[in-house]
Amino acid sequence: RELQVNLRDRSYPIYIGEGILDEIASLFEKHDIRKASPLMIVTDEHVAPVYLDRITQSLMAGGYQVASYVVAAGERSKALSVLEDIIGAALDAGLDRSSAIVALGGGVVGDLAGFVAASYMRGIRFVQIPTTILAHDSSVGGKVAVNHPKAKNIIGAFHQPELVLYDTATLRTLPEREIRAGLSEMIKHGLIWDAEFTAWLDQHAEEILALEHDKLEYGLYMGCQVKAYVVSQDEKENDLRAILNLGHTIGHALEAVAGYNELLHGEAISIGMVGSAKLAVRMGRSVRIYTETKRILAKFGLPVRLPEHLDTDRIMKAMMHDKKFKEGRTVFVLPTEIGRVEINKQVPVEWVREVVEELK
Ligand code: NAD
Ligand code: ZN
Repeated sequence: RELQVNLRDRSYPIYIGEGILDEIASLFEKHDIRKASPLMIVTDEHVAPVYLDRITQSLMAGGYQVASYVVAAGERSKALSVLEDIIGAALDAGLDRSSAIVALGGGVVGDLAGFVAASYMRGIRFVQIPTTILAHDSSVGGKVAVNHPKAKNIIGAFHQPELVLYDTATLRTLPEREIRAGLSEMIKHGLIWDAEFTAWLDQHAEEILALEHDKLEYGLYMGCQVKAYVVSQDEKENDLRAILNLGHTIGHALEAVAGYNELLHGEAISIGMVGSAKLAVRMGRSVRIYTETKRILAKFGLPVRLPEHLDTDRIMKAMMHDKKFKEGRTVFVLPTEIGRVEINKQVPVEWVREVVEELK
């Protein structure tokens, strides 16, 4: 399957399917990745042993000069110090303004390598090779960033890739917990945009969790399509793009308070989406929104309750970093029905607090 992300001044393709990496060199060539300058693959210690050699060989056989850099797995690699190390390696490998950075891995590698590409020599080409389910979200749309100890994704840029190569064969080595966490963003894409897709996800949960090929590929395709469409309407998040943050206000606060190891991103936003649905009901929406959101997420084995030991005060404080609070009210992405959301600027902070408390 192939999809196009159409932005105001350019567009780029997303290829999704089994075995796409077998054609990597010719796809690179087709999309103007230059052979005259070296390119650098950035990946992590879990992905490297399985895929790095194979991809390096294919690219070299196609006439590319290839360097690589392997980071530690996990959120902690999204850091300025790691960025600096990669840039040092890029200089040593002779990367120039016509070079490309290749992100091979999940969202951590994609965000990190993308920010290397955005900042090295004021911006060079960049290719996304997502290898997690979550990365159907992170590899599309051009948001790239590293974290600051005080806040997640706070040092970053908008930098779109030249192309996205999504080889579904790579997903077979994913740990089960990562599979579920990645599906959380896929469900989010249904919940914000497409009731029919949400119903399809609900109906095929077992097959998708078992990574049955056709179902998984269709789900990734639909998820990427929603993301690509929203981003094409609003690349720099002036308005519409904010709907992609469903579940993320609470979710990011939970990640910060729980520590990035206890809750995976997808797990945190699962709880966040249940919280948003609860809040929507408070604001007068049908209770069905809450029961359905919770039921579907639970069906995919995702957490729908807050770990009890997480302190509500600390969660609220972490949310303040993320948000403007004006006269006791704040902005939230809230569901209005399954498959539709609104951006509500009048949510009472007190109600947010009560909902967080009730999530335990
Ligand atoms: P991740 O990159 O840490 O990958 C999860 C784990 O799976 C890691 O341990 C990784 O080494 C391992 N892994 C990756 N591919 C594998 C494979 N094929 N086989 C076996 N193991 C594999 O995490 P993630 O969930 O992919 O991404 C989360 C990150 O994405 C967060 O930092 C989040 O902020 C970011 N994100 C960014 C955007 C965006 O628009 N830029 C959107 C959503 C999330
Ligand atoms: Zn997310």
